[in-house]
Amino acid sequence: MIQRRKTRVVDVGGVSIGGHNPVSVQTMTKTHTEDVDATVRQIRELEALGCRIIRVAVPTIIAAQCLGAIKKQIHIPLVADIHFGHHLALEAIAQGVDKIRINPGNMKDRNKVEEVVKAAKDKGIPIRIGVNSGSVRAEGDDREELPQVMVKTVLKYCEHFESLGFRDIILSLKASDIPSTLDAYRSIATQCDYPLHLGVTAAGPPSLATIKSAIGIGTLLSEGIGDTLRVSYTGASELEVKAGYEILEALGFYKRGGTELISCPTCGRCEIDLVKIVEQITQRLPKDKKHLQIAIMGCVVNGPGEAREVDIGIAGGKGFGFLFKKGEKVRKIPEDRMVEELLEEIARMT
Ligand code: SF4
Repeated sequence: MIQRRKTRVVDVGGVSIGGHNPVSVQTMTKTHTEDVDATVRQIRELEALGCRIIRVAVPTIIAAQCLGAIKKQIHIPLVADIHFGHHLALEAIAQGVDKIRINPGNMKDRNKVEEVVKAAKDKGIPIRIGVNSGSVRAEGDDREELPQVMVKTVLKYCEHFESLGFRDIILSLKASDIPSTLDAYRSIATQCDYPLHLGVTAAGPPSLATIKSAIGIGTLLSEGIGDTLRVSYTGASELEVKAGYEILEALGFYKRGGTELISCPTCGRCEIDLVKIVEQITQRLPKDKKHLQIAIMGCVVNGPGEAREVDIGIAGGKGFGFLFKKGEKVRKIPEDRMVEELLEEIARMT
């Protein structure tokens, strides 16, 4: 059982982050925020996939002025991602967003940061202080000490916010390499009680970013660190949400409805066409039904063990397989009937 780090709870438009609340999956839109229709359309698609919080880029005052119209048409909390212009943050807050994300280092003037913090405080909305490795490096710090520099920078911002009586803070310290990301989050986790937003920044295209995110975000979560997450892909936001849930599911933080398939990689001992069987089953598995674990295993080495552990499973033999249900061996099925009979049994159980 993973013991989560104790944090204060921060409310983001009705989604509680930190404490014992579930780790929430969030993402960012990839539309131009000024295109309200396209942005709303994308957010609604992401809502349907289980995205709990949505962030949009606010690079211009027009984008900031569109936030109210976007918020009215969506059902999940809206976060404004602001860099450089404190006037953008003030407008976003006035438009009624549920949180803003800033890197105070981008707003060179301390007074301007204070104006933003005061406006957020007046509206009762939280701020994520998001420091990425790129912004810290740009300030000329030594690469060797990147995690420490990130942590020191974030703690300095926290102190500033706290001096203004503001503690509705969520933190992120994303680096594009895993060791720095892990070091930075592990270190900050011991030095404050603010909830942490996890991510590996600029992680690359989905094939690479999935691995980096699974290792980076997954390692931290397995240590009890992290309260909300965003997988970042050079690719569709929909895939980011799905990957976020897959990480949570792999760690047992989330159980989706529908079926979960366990299948072996096959090897020289396999005497059925397992790859084809798994492909056919995957395509026809019922969706949105009761949670069911299914194992499809190639041979008697690990097959019976895995098949017995799950709700329903097959352990392959030479041109046939044994069907297991709820830990019991039920019958022998020839290979050419395996897909149909397994699907019929699954349909009866869901
Ligand atoms: S279950 Fe059997 S076929 Fe599948 S990988 Fe293991 S040993 Fe190979």
